[in-house]
Amino acid sequence: MSLKNEYLKKVMADVEKRNPNEPEFHQAVREVLESLEPVIAKHPEFEAQGLVDRIVEPERIIKFRVPWVDDNGNVQVNRGFRIQFNSAIGPYKGGLRFHPSVYEGIIKFLGFEQIFKNSLTGLPIGGGKGGSDFDPKGKSDAEVMRFCQSFMTELCKHIGADTDVPAGDIGVGGREIGFLYGQYKKIRNEFVGVLTGKGLTYGGSLARTQATGYGLCYFTEEMLNDKGNSFNGKTVVISGSGNVAIYATEKATQLGGKVVALSDSNGYIYDKNGIDLDYVKQLKEVERKRIKEYLNKHPEAEYHEGCSGIWTIKCDIALPCATQNELDEASAKALVANGVVAVAEGANMPSTPEAVEVFQSNGVLFGPAKAANAGGVATSALEMSQNSQRLSWTFEEVDAKLKDIMVNIYHNSADAAEKYGLKDNFVAGANIAGFLKVADAMMAQGIV
Ligand code: NDP
Repeated sequence: MSLKNEYLKKVMADVEKRNPNEPEFHQAVREVLESLEPVIAKHPEFEAQGLVDRIVEPERIIKFRVPWVDDNGNVQVNRGFRIQFNSAIGPYKGGLRFHPSVYEGIIKFLGFEQIFKNSLTGLPIGGGKGGSDFDPKGKSDAEVMRFCQSFMTELCKHIGADTDVPAGDIGVGGREIGFLYGQYKKIRNEFVGVLTGKGLTYGGSLARTQATGYGLCYFTEEMLNDKGNSFNGKTVVISGSGNVAIYATEKATQLGGKVVALSDSNGYIYDKNGIDLDYVKQLKEVERKRIKEYLNKHPEAEYHEGCSGIWTIKCDIALPCATQNELDEASAKALVANGVVAVAEGANMPSTPEAVEVFQSNGVLFGPAKAANAGGVATSALEMSQNSQRLSWTFEEVDAKLKDIMVNIYHNSADAAEKYGLKDNFVAGANIAGFLKVADAMMAQGIV
């Protein structure tokens, strides 16, 4: 699909010119602008107020040096980023990613998507994202700690419980959040909810660890239920084996599905008997090992090198939960040929635009990341509420709120799609519903 509206075409051309060599950011903006065609046609005031020109430009980009000393006494230098994209409806909120592939374009794409995702949760949070090209893989705990301390020494000047509240993402889990929080507290001398995903002994929320994966399955179940279907008895393929993939596996199984495959950046495992999740948790969360070690305990399972082969496994439901653009057109065609019924994105932008087109034109129910994986940030916002109240809610309370939020996100996206004549196009529906709330707030606040 290409843009038709002259105003949106001009905004897109400006984005490409102003942000050269950032293809992931262009891809994320283009998808949103394509969805907004009917909205802009109906609301000429948005163009008059330059609203779309403003929403594609980050409010602030912070870029900094992160020097640290490795275990051999050598000085290492990484680059840190925080992009405070949009604060129209609340303080900036979004994760930190530590991965060697991180550069400004990746953080921009993630920060941009975060605006609409956070809006969809119905909670008062703006959009932001950050990270570094640091690779925690293969580093000792002491090296990770020194890196996190150096990173936070600069970042702490720019964030705050009412300003900007980062969380985890790829490469940033409980260990990293702990080190980051300790350094923030030491420098600023304040014990506040400035990060989410914290440990339970120092302000974390029950169910935050599970939230993205569980939320993904609650969204998918609602999408299936709406069409008279469910997880029950279905074969499920999930990519990745990190935080999102592990808890998506747990919830999909609880809902009656059988998860038969998981992966990491080296390859994938296929266990036709259903994945032994306790063992995967031990390997990944405790021992930080590779997914192929799964065969040590389950020699009957298969391991294959390379990531994309996972999409050739026959399944009813596919949940990509690893990284951006991991599922391309050929993989989408393979899934369709094997009879996939629903695909929902746990990772951010895991399906290429061509893959999305294949799913939508073949009647596959497709849940886009902004809607389907919003459970993580929604629960982070619930962590912020608990920190402000200085209270901790029970697991059941948080989980029930999460489920409610995901069901609402599904229906708000489905309703917005239908209202604009795009029934069952949840990509457009999520973009439109997320956009309208932010646009309304921006219109009310003037040209700022
Ligand atoms: P983790 O770091 O816990 O796990 C990431 C998983 O994806 C690992 O199995 C990793 O394998 C794999 N992976 C990472 N990069 C690649 C790659 N280039 N190719 C193939 N596999 C890769 O991260 P999360 O589970 O937290 O995040 C996964 C996705 O979900 C990301 O897109 C993230 O933005 C998104 N997300 C996360 C949320 C959260 O709450 N954590 C919230 C919303 C979205 P390996 O170990 O080999 O690197």
